Amino acid sequence: MTLTLFIILLLGLTIGSFLNVVIDRLPRGEQIWSGRSHCDSCKHQLGLFDLIPILSFLILNKKCRYCRAKISWQNPLVESINALLYLGVYAFLIHRYQYLNINSLIYLFVIISGLIVIFFVDLKDGIIPDSIIVGLTGSTLVYIFLTDRNILRDHFLWGLIMSGIFLSLVLGTRGKGMGLGDVKYAFLMGFILGFPESLVAFYLAFLTGAAFSIILILRRKKTMKSKIPFGPFLVMATLTSLFFGSNLWLVFKELIGL
Ligand SMILES: [Zn+2]
Repeated sequence: MTLTLFIILLLGLTIGSFLNVVIDRLPRGEQIWSGRSHCDSCKHQLGLFDLIPILSFLILNKKCRYCRAKISWQNPLVESINALLYLGVYAFLIHRYQYLNINSLIYLFVIISGLIVIFFVDLKDGIIPDSIIVGLTGSTLVYIFLTDRNILRDHFLWGLIMSGIFLSLVLGTRGKGMGLGDVKYAFLMGFILGFPESLVAFYLAFLTGAAFSIILILRRKKTMKSKIPFGPFLVMATLTSLFFGSNLWLVFKELIGL
């Protein structure tokens, strides 16, 4: 048990380290698989010692070994979030099914890592990469085929409903606030979640997005017109609903007296 947790922790950190490369290179159209990692400031190629998740960041005291430029907080942050969510998924699956469903574990690892990339790329560059949407949609298709083909039609339908709602919002607001990337993401969200989790995620994303915008406007950091990427809220809502959506749905129904 302890060994399994340790292996999952290492796996989460290592893949998290790779996600940082993807997050940095994907929006710039750079090759992900070729070329060693290098320092952003001095372009010095990084050695093994510079690439140990979290530890390098701490040992090197948040600075590049060659030029002393600061290393971004993104690196240890993405690594630890990825590792913690992997551990959380493992605990969640064991708790729910009393045994480890390896298909579900791998699928959820893929979803988590893909969504982390979308979160940070949209936050930093304001785009949601098509390649991640396509990859996660494909993974979900394979997973549904392997586990329960009966739900395929429903999940596809909810993908269409979600993207339809988002498309009308984008057209209705003439592209202010949301873009086509969000419409594509909405399809993925509906396809992953199905019913009722899609609706829960939709509600959570707008609730948190609106709350955050109001706080920023009140603190005068943003004006009504400035653009806040919606992807990070969608990602957080998707992950929350993926694990707690059915429970939250019951709470909502209770609240509105259904
Ligand atoms: Zn450097």
